[in-house]
Amino acid sequence: MSQKELLKINNLKQYFPIKGGVFGRTVNNVKAVDDVTFTIYEGETVSVVGESGCGKSTTGRAILRLDEPTAGEVEFDGTNVLGLNKKDMRKMRKDMQIIFQDPYASLNPRQTVRQTLVEAMDIQNVVPKKDRANRVSELMETVGLQPHQADRFPHEFSGGQRQRIGIARALSVDPKLIICDEAVSALDVSIQAQVLNLLKKFQDEMNLTYLFIAHDLGVVRHISDRIIVMYLGKIVEIGDKKSIFNNPQHPYTKALLSAIPVPDPDKKTERIFLQGDVPSPIDPPSGCRFHTRCPFATEKCVEETPELRDEDYMDGGHQAACHYIREIESGEHKPTRDTSKVRQV
Ligand code: SF4
Repeated sequence: MSQKELLKINNLKQYFPIKGGVFGRTVNNVKAVDDVTFTIYEGETVSVVGESGCGKSTTGRAILRLDEPTAGEVEFDGTNVLGLNKKDMRKMRKDMQIIFQDPYASLNPRQTVRQTLVEAMDIQNVVPKKDRANRVSELMETVGLQPHQADRFPHEFSGGQRQRIGIARALSVDPKLIICDEAVSALDVSIQAQVLNLLKKFQDEMNLTYLFIAHDLGVVRHISDRIIVMYLGKIVEIGDKKSIFNNPQHPYTKALLSAIPVPDPDKKTERIFLQGDVPSPIDPPSGCRFHTRCPFATEKCVEETPELRDEDYMDGGHQAACHYIREIESGEHKPTRDTSKVRQV
């Protein structure tokens, strides 16, 4: 894999103001993404996972400036994305595409697939007008659809086919990075596998880079090179797929992993059920944001925010934001309270 840094995110924050009072002043903020830093290398797939409300989709939208970030830096292929004016940002979107969760909502119901694909090429001016009909046919075949189906409307396709059209639209402008925002979450398991395989195939053929946003680790297992786990607007663990799956360090990641179904009915696994809901991002818990649900929490966790860090037994690049990584791993730091239930399933 190439080690060229394609996307660098530094201290990204996305706050949404809450207005109140007679004058509609900002009375508080929803801290959807709060100081997030990571890098994606060219040709790799980095997945961002976490429960809903953890800030993963907001991170994707902020990178593309679909919502204007509150603070931080986004550097794409050496360009300061947040410093671009509207015209240059539009050009930049040729290289940074997004596929949404709901393919139906993201396609114009009054446009045929052909019109949708041609429109994307038109905006970015990527294919000469005379070649666009051929390019549409090529794209349809690339994503496993028939060229003649390009003259149909979105409602004439199944969910899986519509997601293929979403992929074709993203590919139509020859991007370098595709942000897949819950791109397979609404699909049946078998269709999910087909779409994931398709994405993988394009990556190999076109050296594409993916930021893959999903709410469960099971889905990203096969497609990811590295995984970022987010909780309440912050990264709590980052590492390559093998390290995260084989050697998770953060109590939250362990709980997420324990929820992945095991295909063998004879194999008993321990499922960690976290108690309580994800707290509000308007007034997140002090210190470690996970302390209200973490079975290992102490006073220190309430008072001090843990930084992402590694220990010498962790493989390169694997980091977790927990005060007691080593102590929990060795069994030295025991659960301090029963905020989760471990059950044999
Ligand atoms: Fe749990 Fe404390 Fe670690 Fe946070 S820092 S994950 S609350 S043990």
